[in-house]
Amino acid sequence: METPDVLVVGAGLAGLHTARLLAEQGFDVLVAERRRTLESGIRTTGIFVRRTLSEFALPPGLLGPAIRRVVLYPPSLRRPVELESSRDEFRVADMAGVYAWALARATLAGARVRLGVSYPVEGVRARFTIGADGARSTVARRLGLDVNRRFIVGAEEMYPVAGGDRAPTFHCVVDPRMAPGYLAWVVDDGRHAHVGLAGRPEWLVEPLPALLRSFGESFGMPPAAPDVTGGLGFGTEGVGAGTGRPSVPGGLGASGGPRVPGGLGALGAERGGLAAGSRAVRDGMGAVGGGSVRRRGGPIPVGGVLRRLACPEGLLVGDAAGAVSPLTAGGLDPCLRLSELAAAVTGDYLRSGDPGMLRHYDGAALRARFRGRLVLRRAWSGVRSRAVAEASFVLLRTPSGRAAAARLLFGDGSFPDAMPRRAGVSCTTR
Ligand SMILES: Cc1cc2nc3c(=O)[nH]c(=O)nc-3n(C[C@H](O)[C@H](O)[C@H](O)COP(=O)(O)OP(=O)(O)OC[C@H]3O[C@@H](n4cnc5c(N)ncnc54)[C@H](O)[C@@H]3O)c2cc1C
Repeated sequence: METPDVLVVGAGLAGLHTARLLAEQGFDVLVAERRRTLESGIRTTGIFVRRTLSEFALPPGLLGPAIRRVVLYPPSLRRPVELESSRDEFRVADMAGVYAWALARATLAGARVRLGVSYPVEGVRARFTIGADGARSTVARRLGLDVNRRFIVGAEEMYPVAGGDRAPTFHCVVDPRMAPGYLAWVVDDGRHAHVGLAGRPEWLVEPLPALLRSFGESFGMPPAAPDVTGGLGFGTEGVGAGTGRPSVPGGLGASGGPRVPGGLGALGAERGGLAAGSRAVRDGMGAVGGGSVRRRGGPIPVGGVLRRLACPEGLLVGDAAGAVSPLTAGGLDPCLRLSELAAAVTGDYLRSGDPGMLRHYDGAALRARFRGRLVLRRAWSGVRSRAVAEASFVLLRTPSGRAAAARLLFGDGSFPDAMPRRAGVSCTTR
């Protein structure tokens, strides 16, 4: 029987960052990750926001060009709203590289990382277990902690594009029919185009892969061969099939909504402006390379940080803790920040043996700081009609509408800094 101080379940960004911070405090840390390689089954687009980039030392070589320009489109794609920041706002990371880098740092700090190993792990009894095992956390269920209940589901395809002198741009399409409760997007950073969409699974009018295919094709992306991802498709947990086969219960394709015969093509026919609008986006992009399409996808918890995150046997971080901005659905900044608090509190608890230390890992307090964003998310999710979404662009085009959108997109208000200002917290090693 192995008896590490800490078992970290999941080698996503949350798990690897927490493992490193704990190993640096001198604990014996074992990481169990069920994927066999960290290059496979990537779920995220990898957009890092300015606040993360300025506070966490991600290797510059793994970051794409800075993006300052965002274009918001209504369902008709007509008269989009263009916003330009004076600062570098986003960068899309090479996520396979980021995971490899985070793995190397955790290992260097002394953590032992085992790939191809699922929790519960036979022959291991740790003093403390950290659930960094994603949106549908098994650790949360087994430890009797809170579990995520509200999700959107997202999927994207990533294509190489030819470089050029066009400005890297984040195109966002607000269309409740295609991406109910969220967005469809094309991020062109001059090296890759990420074409994706996400929405409430119960409101999707088609299985997500089919919607995505149609959305991509409407932007001139070549249809992906079924096996270009080495057979992965979108086949990560809860995502349904990359082949567009019918929905799996509880999976991404599981749409309770009506099916639209003919798919998004049929929607396209009723979307008068689609062709012209998508041409406008395509014209601004580089030539799309064929062949090496990558697919990504997964559930995204959007119900806010869970209240009960810790007990004497373990705690939750990252998506497992619901640490995703309910509004932007960005989880990379939250998972890094919350990991720091998790590592500090775990260290204090293991050193002192005092369960009272765990009170500092308080999901309810963090959640309270999200109240405004949770309200906005509910309001946005409530927009089911394309006419209402179209009409909201009338407001968005006004100076105050543009200013509000710019504040939301370019502001500093992502995840609250989770580290408490209190004595005894020993680690902020970024
Ligand atoms: C399509 C899509 C695009 C996104 N784009 C962005 C973006 O651009 N920017 C942004 O900020 N956020 C984005 N997000 C959200 C962001 O990716 C996540 O919030 C973030 O990656 C969560 O990291 P994590 O480490 O908590 O979880 P994960 O990265 O999901 O890692 C969890 C790990 O646990 C492993 N695991 C699960 N169960 C077990 C088990 N029983 N035993 C062992 N291992 C297990 C999994 O294999 C996985 O490796 C996106 C999400 C999706 C779905």
